[in-house]
Amino acid sequence: MDLIVSHWHCPRCDVGGRDREPEPSCWNCGGAAVVTSRPRVDGDDAPVTS
Ligand SMILES: [Zn+2]
Repeated sequence: MDLIVSHWHCPRCDVGGRDREPEPSCWNCGGAAVVTSRPRVDGDDAPVTS
């Protein structure tokens, strides 16, 4: 499978997580989370998106 997981961080709550949604929301405050990286789970080298 070719899953892409978004790693995100919420600066307001200082919490983070992983979500398969392209635009994840914070589980704590429900607000929009900041996606920090979006690596592919299949092991390929993902391009660095800063
Ligand atoms: Zn939050």
